[in-house]
Amino acid sequence: MAVRHIRQLGDPILRVRCERVQNPKSAATRLVADDLRDSLAVAKKKYKMGRALAAPQIGAPVRIVFVQTDKQRWTMINPEITDVGPNDFTVWDDCFSFPNLLVRVTRAHQVTVSYTDTKGKQHTMQAEDSMAELLQHEIDHLDGILALDRPSGVDPFAFRTEWDKLHEASERYSPPKPREV
Ligand SMILES: [Zn+2]
Repeated sequence: MAVRHIRQLGDPILRVRCERVQNPKSAATRLVADDLRDSLAVAKKKYKMGRALAAPQIGAPVRIVFVQTDKQRWTMINPEITDVGPNDFTVWDDCFSFPNLLVRVTRAHQVTVSYTDTKGKQHTMQAEDSMAELLQHEIDHLDGILALDRPSGVDPFAFRTEWDKLHEASERYSPPKPREV
């Protein structure tokens, strides 16, 4: 177990399409999952934000995401979005790999995600709202995609300090509305 440096914007590993995990129960998988958990715990304290980390952010180009909310934690191996609901919403998104920048992105308001856990068991999760956008953000990381690649609307970038001066925290999320095709 170790707290690892979180890779920052410009580090090429953030742009790699990560490899699928062949053995979810292996010691190597466990090591990455433990390091994600420990690294997230430290980063959360440091930045006072964040609910998840993806393996490439700690330098491991494999398809593993670790999520920790107030109530629960998940290690998701080979997570995949298998379905999306009909509505989108916009989110002022942030990321530990560029912690001072917010980017307005459009995300599906509901997703279905399948993944394997560290015991090798398959799961399907239905998520909506803040959990849905979180999972889309983290799964993007596994494909080398960052929120910066998905700017939405007029003036989609803001430094956190400036955004905080002008907005309430509740303005991070827009209401859901039917997807524009
Ligand atoms: Zn991120």
